[in-house]
Amino acid sequence: MKNYSIALLPGDGIGPEVSAEAVKVVEAAGERHSFKVEWVKYPFGAAHYNKTGEILPASALDEMGKCDAMLLGAVGDPSVKPGILERGILLTLRFHFDQYINLRPARSFQSVPCPVPLKDGSVIDSVVVRENTEDFYMGIGAVSENGRFDAPFEAKRGLYDVAGHLKADFSCEFPAALQIGALTRPGIERVTRYAFDLAKKRGEDKVTLASKANAVPFLYGFLDEETKRVAEEYQEISLKIQNVDAMCYQLARTPAAYGVILCPNLFGDIVSDLLSALTGGLGLGAGGNIGDKLSMFEPVHGSAPDIVGTGKANPLAAIISASMMLDHIGESAGAKAIDAAVSSYLSGDASEKPIELGGNHTCQAAGDGVARKIV
Ligand code: ATP
Repeated sequence: MKNYSIALLPGDGIGPEVSAEAVKVVEAAGERHSFKVEWVKYPFGAAHYNKTGEILPASALDEMGKCDAMLLGAVGDPSVKPGILERGILLTLRFHFDQYINLRPARSFQSVPCPVPLKDGSVIDSVVVRENTEDFYMGIGAVSENGRFDAPFEAKRGLYDVAGHLKADFSCEFPAALQIGALTRPGIERVTRYAFDLAKKRGEDKVTLASKANAVPFLYGFLDEETKRVAEEYQEISLKIQNVDAMCYQLARTPAAYGVILCPNLFGDIVSDLLSALTGGLGLGAGGNIGDKLSMFEPVHGSAPDIVGTGKANPLAAIISASMMLDHIGESAGAKAIDAAVSSYLSGDASEKPIELGGNHTCQAAGDGVARKIV
């Protein structure tokens, strides 16, 4: 019997509710597929911060780094100024462990209505491979009251540190903002290889890159050229480069036509939310932050403070995230069992579904429903 150590950070709002159901389902999969999980639970989030002033200590990062993976509920609460916990916990974890891939699968289910009619029983089965550390998310920029910029900047990443000076003068005095996006050859290479390897694993012959080189030529022109260079290593898989606006248009019309979608950070954030909506809503959007050290799996949705304690939280996104986590650590039979259990649960009686999907199942009842279907 294999044993895994998983860092568990339930976090805020509905995070503890949905992650408890994900834990329940993983345990059920472990019983059937002969693996055991030791959950190393962390209290970080709004309540801990309000009580102690501590956000995420370095000692915890060291400890977490020894685990096989991490499962996270959600972070953020109205009692804490926006950004403190998101930057202090989520972004710190992503950058500290250099989780350079944000993987967001989008799968439609026959029983969950899709806002776009799918042709002849076709299904949406795509996955966004979003670069997670560069682009316009470098945090480099400034706002000025008089159009003059003169400020140092620095950013630290797993691959490199970058430091410089932002200097610019507009010819007139007015409030203005500047923000810089950055892409690097190694940053593009590693995410492109990940996307192509994934397409190969999924038996697909194409990767579609979301770009916009016609309007943002330095950044995305470079992205196109570097991606093409890496794509040449893969004889059997072609690269299709599509402007992100055209991609959104096509996704809304023919979502089933897409498989692996490779995106720079900003476009990936937007395209994956669109896909979430197309496949049934936030409560189904699962995600993984993946790197060569500790990888972290979390639902796409936030802490949804408006529905805490009401039973309305749909735990399926957290459960599917947990399945991605099992696949990542090598428990693919357990992961497949969870995916099949979710499909089977969703194809049951219309009333026996999460409240978000029109049924009467509370968060706990939905977790029980999936756990019962594990074979
Ligand atoms: P963040 O910026 O952290 O993603 P947000 O405020 O943009 O957070 P969410 O917290 O994801 O958004 O929630 C948006 C709304 O969607 C919530 O108010 C809630 O009603 C609904 N929602 C989110 N997640 C779920 C879920 N798992 N089940 C049911 N409803 C949900």
